Amino acid sequence: MPDSFDVVIVGGGPGGYAAALYGAAAGLNIAMIERDKVGGTCLHRGCIPAKELLETAAVYRTVAEAKEFGVLTDQPGLDFSLTQARKQRIIDNLFKGLSGMLKQRKVTVIAGSGSLGPNNTVTVEAADGLLSQVHGERVILAAGSVPRTIPGFDRDGKFVLTSDEVLSLEALPARVVVIGGGAIGCEFASMMIDLGTKVTLLEGLPKILPGCDEDAANVVLRSFKRRGMEVITGVAVTGHTPNDDGVSTTVHYGEGQSVVVDAVIVSVGRRPMSDNLLQPGTGVVVSERGFVEVDEFCRTAAPKIFAIGDVIATPALAHIGFAEAMLVIKQIMDEPAVPIDYGKVPWCIYCNPEVAFAGLTEQAAKDAGYDVVVAKHKFAGNGRAMIVGGTDGLVKVIAQRKADGTGGKILGVHMAGPWVTEQLGQAYLAVNWEATVEEVAAFIQPHPSMSELFGETVLSLTGRSLHG
Ligand code: FAD
Repeated sequence: MPDSFDVVIVGGGPGGYAAALYGAAAGLNIAMIERDKVGGTCLHRGCIPAKELLETAAVYRTVAEAKEFGVLTDQPGLDFSLTQARKQRIIDNLFKGLSGMLKQRKVTVIAGSGSLGPNNTVTVEAADGLLSQVHGERVILAAGSVPRTIPGFDRDGKFVLTSDEVLSLEALPARVVVIGGGAIGCEFASMMIDLGTKVTLLEGLPKILPGCDEDAANVVLRSFKRRGMEVITGVAVTGHTPNDDGVSTTVHYGEGQSVVVDAVIVSVGRRPMSDNLLQPGTGVVVSERGFVEVDEFCRTAAPKIFAIGDVIATPALAHIGFAEAMLVIKQIMDEPAVPIDYGKVPWCIYCNPEVAFAGLTEQAAKDAGYDVVVAKHKFAGNGRAMIVGGTDGLVKVIAQRKADGTGGKILGVHMAGPWVTEQLGQAYLAVNWEATVEEVAAFIQPHPSMSELFGETVLSLTGRSLHG
């Protein structure tokens, strides 16, 4: 008889470990199967290392601009091995903390690859090939995702890199092409241009940061161009040809255009890791694109089997994995569970300038048939932004138009600029509480702070404003 648990979780990334921690806190006996390291993509190959490298770029910029503040220093140089060592220390610390928490809550972590068979039994293959089985009264599939690649750009670790390789580079290439102007592509492009790499960003769609409000995306686009980045949209890449020098490759795109670079970063999204996750006869359905199919409660087609995180077709964000984990554990505990409103989740992009938003874009609100009123205010007029030297950006609030022309319910808030990823919180609450402009405008913002701009933007939608 296999060992039996209340819940068996396959995958120990943000989705899986959140389910384990939250479930164990509720008294459930939990086993979590992980074939690599707990923490998953987010901790080891995603959010945390990417943001650490972006912070290095921010420090570099600060030093380069120090003279403006009267601080006299040498111009910055970069020892990327120290950057990588710092990044690794942060990952190691977080890994240690997470492993300790799992142990403290008595989660059984099993090393190996899990595949779900019939009767809620998961077969685990250890690294040495040894097979074992565990049974879960409930099973949660949280196998996450891996980088997608495209034809003509086979990942080779030398010329063609995905996020996995970029995050562990020993030195930055002198010239790169980034294929894909989504969140991750823009974060890499931004980090590299600030650290001295020549960057060409190629995007197949007509604009970068698809899904972001156009005004916010334009702030980033203009800043990228000002900093010397070549941004080419609406083009397809066709392949690359390594050059005879052995260190560079020519990337082909558009109609006969090309650019010579030292590395190509393929950042075209991620694919769900459902390979070998399911044996025949489980009843779990996987879509053509490889996503495990679920309903709004993260229930698969098979009773008592759930799936969460990047392996399902919901926004591929760590905090969505956390939220889905809690949603599932609540159901297992027979507690009231409310489906996630995916149209109102918080999105943060940590490029320079940062982007943060929740709720509908202006265009999406119009497409949905809302009569909208929009207010935009720029960081250029904000005292704190001037003080920190980051005035590029704006806050944009989209509200339902009332009969008198002022704003009613807040439908979306979109920000681009300094520290906006840290300012999104109250905007997110406003959108999700379906607060009105009047209600939010009544709250006091601290002065001087960047968040005053959100308050000011909302206030202006009441028909009267203070500073703007
Ligand atoms: P994963 O984190 O992919 O974890 C899945 C785990 O399951 C892995 O550890 C894997 O080894 C394991 N596994 C897979 N199959 C099996 C199996 N059969 N048996 C056992 N174990 C298995 N999100 C944000 O919210 N904010 C960010 O700033 C952000 N930045 C990112 C930057 C980059 C460069 C990348 C690549 C991603 C970023 N993301 C960010 C996305 C975020 O990392 C993912 O959404 C998140 O990690 C998904 O969590 P998950 O648990 O579903 O999957």
